[in-house]
Amino acid sequence: MRREWHQLSHPAVGATALQTSRPSTDSAEDSALGLDRWRELPRVQVPPWSDPDEVASVCQVLDNVPSIVAPYEVDQLRHKLAEVCEGRAFLLQGGDCAETFADNTESHLLANARTLLQMAVVLTYGASMPVVKVARVAGQYTKPRSSATDSLGLPAYRGDLINSLEANEAARVADPQRMIRAYANSAAAMNMLRAYLAGGLADLAGLHDWNKDFVRASPAGERYEAIAREIDRALDFIRACGMTDDEALRTVSLYCSHEALALEYDRALTRVSDGRAYGLSGHFLWIGERTRQLDHAHIDFVSRIANPIGVKLGPGTSPETAIELCEKLNPENIPGRLTLISRMGNGKVRDALPPIVEKVTATGAKVVWQCDPMHGNTHESSNGYKTRHFDRIVDEVLGYFEVHRGLGTHPGGIHVELTGEDVTECLGGAQGIADLDLPDRYETACDPRLNTQQSLELAFLVAEMLRG
Ligand code: PEP
Ligand code: MN
Repeated sequence: MRREWHQLSHPAVGATALQTSRPSTDSAEDSALGLDRWRELPRVQVPPWSDPDEVASVCQVLDNVPSIVAPYEVDQLRHKLAEVCEGRAFLLQGGDCAETFADNTESHLLANARTLLQMAVVLTYGASMPVVKVARVAGQYTKPRSSATDSLGLPAYRGDLINSLEANEAARVADPQRMIRAYANSAAAMNMLRAYLAGGLADLAGLHDWNKDFVRASPAGERYEAIAREIDRALDFIRACGMTDDEALRTVSLYCSHEALALEYDRALTRVSDGRAYGLSGHFLWIGERTRQLDHAHIDFVSRIANPIGVKLGPGTSPETAIELCEKLNPENIPGRLTLISRMGNGKVRDALPPIVEKVTATGAKVVWQCDPMHGNTHESSNGYKTRHFDRIVDEVLGYFEVHRGLGTHPGGIHVELTGEDVTECLGGAQGIADLDLPDRYETACDPRLNTQQSLELAFLVAEMLRG
């Protein structure tokens, strides 16, 4: 029987699974690991807190709380990403651009998780490979901003961990106490997800039924019917073989991830286990396009933790920078340790990505190549909404597949902003969402997300690409 992390309480979990970590109060060991070196380095996107003593006292609380994830889970995810790195698995990562405390509800979490799992079923079939599932959840509470003020002239919203989205001066003041709320919300989210995952949320037949409902209801359903029918037949075959009781058909591991931006928070939730530092605020942490300067604080901090790490690469990234990131973040060249997330824009991916992939591959660096087709494809609609067109998103993924197929490298995964709700934030898709529809249900706290239907449609289209 397979053991998954949500079965943590099971008495038969192996020795490494029960390995514990301790709060980072041993400053000698922490300093030997260089966990606070980032504090001396240049840093951009610093949360505009005014009282360093209050930040320190909040961090002291977080130094001693139970962590959100456990070291063995982090190791397990790194091993699974090693499979992606070697071309034997596919990575699906997705969720809100910005989680909010108000939307950290059972219904929202379940809708997002279910959509991600439904996508994973289709992708597993398309790829004929295991799909590693990572949610942007339980900590995606900070946002890098390109301007310090918003269109109203107010201090920019930087994510619920830092200030409030509410549009007034007082709400936008950065409040260190919000780190505690972010932690509590993250812990509650993971607690609920772990419980539901163990209780049938991931049941394969159930997820496939939801997918069939989607195909029936979608105006573009005909296109997806063939794959849905094939999955039907595959499930019939599995049933006929008497394998319906297999654990693997009812449970999955869903890992959590967020951008490591407010380093005070991620540092405070770092614990040392067996001499190694683990960022236990989440399984997978990534560094954004705006904070990936090689000699700056963010890259230094994540270079010292054992987690799988992602780095976003925009169209301005030189192959040399990508190589330096590999050297700095993965000097031992451990497969699964580093994911390079290209977010080029559909118009640029076919030109900007090949030299990076080619040169990194030539150095022998082991990386997971992941495509974020969202962040390079944002524009303002005619009626003033920040939006993305479904066609450009699909085209960037297509370009990414073309590039990797051309170079003989593995198109390892996708990273998308989505929600399991019927929002109107991205244009197009089979529902044909147009500029004038955007105000209907434009609910995101930050960037526009694919809604449920657009997400599933994308999964079916990527499944087609995976089949080649
Ligand atoms: C994000 O993933 O929400 C994000 C801000 O991405 P990027 O750093 O690529 O702009
Ligand atoms: Mn975003």
